[in-house]
Amino acid sequence: MKKAYIETYGCQMNVNDTEVIFSILGRAGYERTEKMEEADLLMANTCSIRDNAEQRIWGRIEAFNQARATREGVLVGIVGCMAERLKNQLLDTGKVDLVAGPDAYRRLPELLRAIHPGAPQMDVLLSRDETYADITPVRTDRNGVSAFISIMRGCNNVCSYCVVPYTRGVERSRDPHSIVREACDVFSRGYREVTLLGQNVDSYHWTDGTETVGFAELLRRVAAISPLLRVRFATSHPKDISDEVIETMAEHENICKHIHLPVQSGSTRLLEKMRRKYTREWYLERVAKIRSLIPDCGLTTDVIAGFCSETPQDHRDTLSLMDQVGFDWAFMFAYSERPGTLAAKQYPDDVPPEEKNRRLNEIIQLQGRKSLERYRAQIGRRLQVLVEGPSKRNPAQLCGRASNSMMCVFPDTVHRAGDYVDVVVKDCTSATLICELTA
Ligand code: SF4
Repeated sequence: MKKAYIETYGCQMNVNDTEVIFSILGRAGYERTEKMEEADLLMANTCSIRDNAEQRIWGRIEAFNQARATREGVLVGIVGCMAERLKNQLLDTGKVDLVAGPDAYRRLPELLRAIHPGAPQMDVLLSRDETYADITPVRTDRNGVSAFISIMRGCNNVCSYCVVPYTRGVERSRDPHSIVREACDVFSRGYREVTLLGQNVDSYHWTDGTETVGFAELLRRVAAISPLLRVRFATSHPKDISDEVIETMAEHENICKHIHLPVQSGSTRLLEKMRRKYTREWYLERVAKIRSLIPDCGLTTDVIAGFCSETPQDHRDTLSLMDQVGFDWAFMFAYSERPGTLAAKQYPDDVPPEEKNRRLNEIIQLQGRKSLERYRAQIGRRLQVLVEGPSKRNPAQLCGRASNSMMCVFPDTVHRAGDYVDVVVKDCTSATLICELTA
């Protein structure tokens, strides 16, 4: 068997895509290795969401070429969103043998066979229907507890700052029967949690003309597999998250009470410029709805600081919304102009870098205070935790997440990964709940 070494960058979708790639390469006689020095194929599954995500990859290409300098026949491949965005630019370096976009993974064996000195291979065609539904991913997680399952690919929203629609193509939903089969399969292999993945899971919609399945129905079907199987999902979209989805979460104990709901900005003027298709008021109404039906629901978000034309007032609107909602945590970034996006074509990137960073730091500090408030509010509560394994910081402790996605650590020498335990929260930091097993 040949050996394939893959580094994965970016989002959970990419983690699951790497698992799909390992499965496809397995059919072509490649097995997975975590050692570059023994690999016949060195690959990076890449992200294009911000410039620094791509800058990193140029360094990896150099590292791959150094690693293969002393061994004959080792191939270098760049796949994923950066491959889709840059295409020939990667081949023109003369240091990459294979370039494949997110919809071309099924052709990897054929492309690898066709590579000869001076004949690198590329496939960056985007598909309208590829979902890899029939491919059983080779799981790369370390604990055998939590598995990612992609339920759809691509995105039709075209937010003005986002490169995803250009690198992952149009939205397509996967056959729900194949999703339920995959969830049953991982459950039977001991996994106790699945995370359903999509750029915008709320617009999941599948039909074969007779049967039609939306996201709420899909959640019900996966939750029905077993009460011991936890169901999570990411990423939601404020304009599409329905009352039916929130009600379905409230009605099913094993659908975890956490929603990642990117807001991006607290200013309606800026949300319009971002083409997010909702207003500040709409977002706050969705949050109120979630909290009315699921009072303890964990809420997390994404925020962009310094988007084109952002005024000090727009920035204050973002701070006041974050203060009002009180997110558990957030991904917070300064706006990074992405070539080819609507914003790059139409709007000057006019907020100076130092001002972007000043605003970003203000947002990060506020979120740090809100996270501490949110975690402190858990002290004294009893929570059910799914054990993921030993705590990274203290191997004498175990760690795992509560339903609201907060990480818990607790002294425990009895239980193991995959067990459910009941704990009481004794203390916290702004990112971890310090707990004890209940008697
Ligand atoms: S919803 Fe918007 S930000 Fe999210 S992936 Fe789609 S285009 Fe990008």
